[in-house]
Formats: sequence, C-alpha cells, structure tokens
Amino acid sequence: MAVLTPPAAGSLRRTPAPSLLLAIAAASAVPVLLAAMVGGIGATLAPGQPAQPAPPAPSATASPTPSWTGTPTPTATLSPSPTPTPSLGSAPEVTPTPATTVKPTSAPSVVPTPAPTAAPADYSRPGGIYLDILTAYRGYGDWYRSLLDTIYMLPADYSPGDLVDTSVASLNGGYVVRSFVVADLKAMADAARVNGTPIVVVSGFRSYAHQQSTFDYWVGVGGYEQALRTSARPGHSEHQLGTTLDFTSAGGKAPWEYADWAMTPAGGWMAANAWRYGFVMSYPAGSFATTGYDYEPWHYRYVGRNLAAAVRKSGLPLREYLWQTR
Ligand SMILES: [Zn+2]
Repeated sequence: MAVLTPPAAGSLRRTPAPSLLLAIAAASAVPVLLAAMVGGIGATLAPGQPAQPAPPAPSATASPTPSWTGTPTPTATLSPSPTPTPSLGSAPEVTPTPATTVKPTSAPSVVPTPAPTAAPADYSRPGGIYLDILTAYRGYGDWYRSLLDTIYMLPADYSPGDLVDTSVASLNGGYVVRSFVVADLKAMADAARVNGTPIVVVSGFRSYAHQQSTFDYWVGVGGYEQALRTSARPGHSEHQLGTTLDFTSAGGKAPWEYADWAMTPAGGWMAANAWRYGFVMSYPAGSFATTGYDYEPWHYRYVGRNLAAAVRKSGLPLREYLWQTR
C-alpha cells in the first residue's frame, strides 16, 4: 500500500552543514541543549562532523535556533541530559550516538529514526531540526517546488490571490485551493466517487495566522513536542501554498482518528491513485527523518501530474525529492 517508501539510509546527497550547525557542533554543550529543545531526536543532531574543523564559530553563546520564538521548552526533555556526545576533535570516525534517551511519546507509526549514519547533521534530513529559514523558491509560481519543512518556510504574507472554494471541484465546500488545482482535484474526486470510495476535504489553504492557531490547537491536544511532529509551525505548512489538502472518507470521521486512514477504502484508494491526478502524500509512513513529520496519510500536496509521477517513480518522499532538485 505504501506508495512512497522511505529511502535507503545514506542515499542522501550531503551538503556542507551550514555554519550554524557547525557552530553548534563546536560548542559541546550546545548540542545537548538543542537536542533537548527539539525533543531529543538526537539522530539528526549527532555532532560528528570531524572533517570540518569548526569555523570561526559565531560565538557559542549565540542562540542556535532563532526559530524558537518564545516557545516553552518542553521540560521533560531537559532532564538528565543524556550523552554529551563524543568530543569533537577526538573522533576521526564519528560514532553515531544512538539517538539519545528521550523517546518521542506515542506515535506508534513512527519508525524511531533510522540508524544515524556518521553523517553530519545537515539540512537534508530535517527531522528534529527546527529553524526559520525562508525557502528559496517562494514565488507564487514556485508552488510545485517550494521546499517546506521544519526548517524552511514561507513569508508570513504569502497568500495566493487565486483561491477558490473546493465546491467547484464537486467536493464539499468551505475550503479553498488555488484555481489551477481544481481540474485535477475534481477529476480525482470524481474517480474516487466512481470507485465507490468518495472522499471529502477537511482542510485546504491555511494562512500563516490560521496555521498559528492550528499549531496552537495541537499543542493543546498533545503538548508542544508532539505538535512539532504532527503539525507545522506557522510559515512552514504546505497548506499555506494553497495547493495542499487533507482528506477523509465521505461520511467518515477525522482522518487522524483512524489507526491508519490509508488502510480504509477511501484512504487506500488515495494512496494508490492520487498521484495520477497530481497529488503526492507528503508524509508517508516512516519518513520522519527525511520529512520532519510523522505519517500523515490524509495530507496531499498538489504538484501537477508530471511531477507527481516523477516523485512516485523516485520512491522518495516529496520533501526529499525537492531537496535533491532544489
Ligand atoms: Zn495537512
């Protein structure tokens, strides 16, 4: 059923870790702090990086994560701060610090991060890294290639002007998408209906402000750490593109209330066929390390039929695909 399978570890193209992370890696205390802040998902923050002597670190004190805008640091994680990790210079070969102690609560679907390779914590694997960097492609014409994750974001005022109600796609209304999505969205909805597995929309475009309240809602539901894994901070949501929708079964409950919506008739049909209409499941199961988010079988981003086919053929999650072609 899984349309997109997680990539083999190590298949990622490596880029030099940005100086920020190098600086972080340089200061031995900071990684621990950062790891704690991000919920102990240590894999991506594995210090390592022996090959590159720490550059003139912009003062170790500099707050490593400009993005942590006042959010309350989850307390639980700060506890007996585990593994201060191997000291930098000493390790010619980095021992992949087995992702520390703090376990991501619940979320049974999450594969506990693939064994950390000896790779540096760079931005090709965003899982557990939370920053606020404007994505490179952020024009309204870049909708198909705008890289959004827990690191890269859209400007707060990004709000497409061509939004139309989903009812024009023969779906339930009350949500909006960019106008050019409608033809394929309607074709997909019609096909699902013909198949006897009709779908409905439960979310479409969300503005920056809307995303703020959405994120806050999930913080209220499951706490900050869990919200980070399942919801995007404002600016980071693909819903802000106006090309992304969440679906569920017509007459069904909220998709996240199923153990796995993709195992339902409608969700299964979508998992197998949405790509034919230009939609990609952005967060397939087990791809936290490379997408930054837990499995979301209901969340589909429109990228056009050609790109959706290419992404499917690649076997990569969309975020990883876009990273490689950015
Ligand atoms: Zn969504």
